[in-house]
Amino acid sequence: MINELNQLKALLESPNRFIILAHKSPDGDAVGSAAAFFHFLSNISCDAQVVLPDLPSDTLLPFMADTKCLYFTENPGDVKTLFEESSVLICLDFNASSRVGEMHSLVDGFKGVKVMIDHHPEPEPFSDIMISDVTNSSTCQLIYECIELMQLTHAIDQHVARSLYLGIMTDTGSFRFPSTTASVHKIVAHLKELGLQHAKIHENIYDNSTEGRLKFMGNAFLNRMTVLPEFKTAVMAIPKSDIYKFELKTGDTEGLVNYLLSIEGIKFAAILIDREEERKWSFRSKGNFDVNIFARTHFEGGGHANAAGGRSSKSLDETLNDFKTIIENYKSQLTQLK
Ligand code: 5GP
Ligand code: MN
Repeated sequence: MINELNQLKALLESPNRFIILAHKSPDGDAVGSAAAFFHFLSNISCDAQVVLPDLPSDTLLPFMADTKCLYFTENPGDVKTLFEESSVLICLDFNASSRVGEMHSLVDGFKGVKVMIDHHPEPEPFSDIMISDVTNSSTCQLIYECIELMQLTHAIDQHVARSLYLGIMTDTGSFRFPSTTASVHKIVAHLKELGLQHAKIHENIYDNSTEGRLKFMGNAFLNRMTVLPEFKTAVMAIPKSDIYKFELKTGDTEGLVNYLLSIEGIKFAAILIDREEERKWSFRSKGNFDVNIFARTHFEGGGHANAAGGRSSKSLDETLNDFKTIIENYKSQLTQLK
């Protein structure tokens, strides 16, 4: 990694124009990484602009507030011009150019230097400088470690700190997943010393449900969930009608899948959501059941060993039936999970 960081540092010390890009449907780590890198670059007087493929949820949007950010879905023309005029593309929190949706041709065709900073398994070689650490809790933690190794920690101000905390907090499930190492806590201790107000960030992310969202969740647990104890699995399928009835917004279904894993004895949780363009899966597991492989093998997806996503172009019912058929093949593996 030292070699890659020396190359990155040389780019920071030259007169470059940087684009910072994170993945489509950005989560806390994607938004946190992009905002943190923007503030970090600004603090060392680099010319930087964030691009996101689409808008984050209302909950995450405020974290982009004091960055310069363009959204491809809102301003495709300006984004294309920016890609022509910039010299370095920093790709954060994604391991394949397909993860930026329709923007992948801009990434593939980018003429300048592409840098990847990411923690997803099996990274594809689409960048010139690849900083990948699949053991890392989050891209935000990895960014902190890069800044530290480049000896630029003086550039971590309160803006960088709160953005990094957002990604570390969300990707570690508020410091409970096994990825939460001593280093994670040491980094957070340093961010606290810099004046980080962590309680406010938890409140902004977790205490802002609408009444509709809570009613939606109640209905989902009551009417949309199937628990399959013989497979140590719980699965939920959300029809479009629920999304409309409870007036859900982007991001309102985020985190729902984790509740299924809170059922005693359940090791594999899956949620299928009927989106306009496709049926989208979220998979979570505990222990050795690798949902990254499961998502890649059966549902055109990927992610991490214990948290992954996938998709299907079949109907909601057909996709759910496919899932129930497929897990028959995993029965012995699932029942053996401790
Ligand atoms: P979530 O279920 O929260 O949407 O995603 C869980 C993890 O899987 C995240 O790390 C996310 O980046 C990854 N992921 C979600 N959907 C996909 C997908 O369709 N393809 C790939 N490769 N990764 C995905
Ligand atoms: Mn991440």
